[in-house]
Amino acid sequence: MSDDIRSALGLRPVINVSGTMTSLGASIVVPEAIAAISAILPQFVEVNDLQRKASAIIARLTGGEAGFVTASCSAGISLAVAATITGNDLLAIEKLPDVSTDKNEVLVQMGHVVSYGAPVDQAIRIAGGKVVFVGQATSTHRYHMENAITDRTAAAVFVVSHHVVDYGLLNLIEFVEIAHAKDVPVIVDAASEYDLRIFLEQGADIAIYSGHKFLGGPTSGIVAGQKELVRHAFLQNMGIGRGMKAGKESIAGVMAALEAWETRDHEGVRERETSYLQLWKQALDGRPGVTALIEPDPTNNPLERMRVIVAPQEAHITAWDLSDALARGNPPIIVRDHEVEHRYFYLDPCNLHPGQEKVVAQRLAEELDKARASNEIIATPLENRSRHRFDAALRWPD
Ligand SMILES: *Cc1c(COP(=O)(O)O)cnc(C)c1O
Repeated sequence: MSDDIRSALGLRPVINVSGTMTSLGASIVVPEAIAAISAILPQFVEVNDLQRKASAIIARLTGGEAGFVTASCSAGISLAVAATITGNDLLAIEKLPDVSTDKNEVLVQMGHVVSYGAPVDQAIRIAGGKVVFVGQATSTHRYHMENAITDRTAAAVFVVSHHVVDYGLLNLIEFVEIAHAKDVPVIVDAASEYDLRIFLEQGADIAIYSGHKFLGGPTSGIVAGQKELVRHAFLQNMGIGRGMKAGKESIAGVMAALEAWETRDHEGVRERETSYLQLWKQALDGRPGVTALIEPDPTNNPLERMRVIVAPQEAHITAWDLSDALARGNPPIIVRDHEVEHRYFYLDPCNLHPGQEKVVAQRLAEELDKARASNEIIATPLENRSRHRFDAALRWPD
């Protein structure tokens, strides 16, 4: 692409088969959102009115009573938690994260305490919430949650993610039933979910989505749900929400992305992604030590990814060395490798420009041919990789 801004900025032209990652620039923003962002940037608007318009669109798409746009899903979690602690008390809102009530405990199942790039429990703590972990990593029973609820309980947070433990925990319907029996509001982190309605339908009081993931909007968070609670979360913009604000461009961009979502050819997108997976499977099938499996999304989003399992004895390279080689190459291919110690990574077809799927297939073939031709097995000890994991971050900006 000759008009690619990245070469002008001196940035590597990465190809993203990892997913909607903040560290890679999230997603390809849809043209409708780009147009809305350009149109509103030079204009003054009354931002709360713009948020009122956003509320109507968010309500229509989510089935919630109201909604607003903030900086990110992570911000939305903090604002929603803050709402349950302060209500509409403007002085309490200014005082956060100091709290003048002891009703600030926030329940989270232990198996939901994940990192999405930062710890979910921190998003609760910066809002003045005191995190109460419920159950154990791989088991929450009803009695765990029932006994965790006290007069001090302000809210309960439920995380939907491929990172959470996927067995032995309470599902959202049970979680809501137990919380609501004692009037505890439920906040759902649904950052990376396609289904904009189901969590509110299942009884959540607030559901929060990322604007910059599947929706293809600008970097933002969408808070949707029960009107009074959404209002109390919105009021946090006079407090901790200030540092998490969405400007006019993000609000207008998300509105446009939501409207585009309503009319998007979801089946067409799916077909295109399936054709990418087929192409990669063809490129990998029959190669020694490589198994390519097409698998559904773990949280039931309507998409599939390819699991590439690499047996180093036959492929002459480990999964993580292959991942690193692809990322170092030209162009750099960034795969989904957060479980790579299990000797596989994934290829995510959701964030590609047309034609990039062929480059991915070609680079996979090149690296595998090269490894196969080498006399030694390319196998960096995993410990070395983990030891150096944060080196680049820790020497940034150098
Ligand atoms: C991506 C993600 C987040 C963070 O979303 P941001 O909008 O980038 O803050 C939070 N929770 C889950 C489950 C996620 O997948």
